[in-house]
Amino acid sequence: MSDHRAGMSNSKTFAVVNQKGGVGKTTTAVNLGTALAAAGYETLLVDLDPQGNASTGLGVPASDRALTTYDVMVGEATLQQAIVKTDVPNLVLAPAAVELSGADMELIENSRRAHILADALSGLPRATSARGKRFVLIDCPPSLNLLTINAMASAQGVLVPLQCEFYALEGLSQLLETVRRVKRNLNPNLEIDGVILTMHDRRNNLSAQVAADVRSYLGELVFDTIIPRNVRLSEAPSHSMPALIYDHACAGSQAYIELASELLRKEGVAKESLEEA
Ligand code: ATP
Ligand code: MG
Repeated sequence: MSDHRAGMSNSKTFAVVNQKGGVGKTTTAVNLGTALAAAGYETLLVDLDPQGNASTGLGVPASDRALTTYDVMVGEATLQQAIVKTDVPNLVLAPAAVELSGADMELIENSRRAHILADALSGLPRATSARGKRFVLIDCPPSLNLLTINAMASAQGVLVPLQCEFYALEGLSQLLETVRRVKRNLNPNLEIDGVILTMHDRRNNLSAQVAADVRSYLGELVFDTIIPRNVRLSEAPSHSMPALIYDHACAGSQAYIELASELLRKEGVAKESLEEA
């Protein structure tokens, strides 16, 4: 195990979490992942949502998914075996399957049930990209179930997309409490790396009010970058590609590129990246 852990030491894993549905988790995982990959980092998107939206959005339809995160969770495949390439250079995917929705029941008697994904990630070989670092983004289902717990137990950072609407903060205290509990009991390395304001509408006063409220409540935890409401972001998945590829210039894509730079800055790798460039 310790050897495997060493193999992961050049990786940073983020769980993209919010138990509220439709807040932009998948859109963030896919487009932030694409932006990190475009910056030269080997990037793995782990689709841990039985809906499989990230897999579909990256052009891997259900019919093409041979081994999935379901097989990994129930111990029938290694993560390495489940990983497939995407059309985006440097971006690979561990696709999901609908069967994943039954995984928590199947795992009930497994004493390491909360650590299965962490164990699977620790078995990956070292990243080989030019930058020598791997980012792992785990797209979670809209729930705080065992799958999401596995994601948090595997990650060093939690990313929380928050939709700029009236109920944005509802459920957030439960989410933060879950993060604290996972940190205490399962994964002392876990931090909240940031809240990402999504679907922000510049012409809507409510959006601005919600953004201001979230910033006054969470302060430094909130990324400066705001993801605007942008129809190109919602169109891209139906073309089986990340928005960054579908329309690189649109406001949504540009916001995700900015988010990736902000995240890299926070990770302290910006300087190193500039020196290499
Ligand atoms: P779920 O909880 O079901 O997994 P989610 O949190 O992953 O949902 P997404 O699937 O990313 O949320 O987004 C929900 C819907 O909103 C999708 O149709 C997506 O294309 C759209 N969407 C996401 N972000 C934006 C945005 N910034 N502007 C416009 N549409 C967006
Ligand atoms: Mg989703």
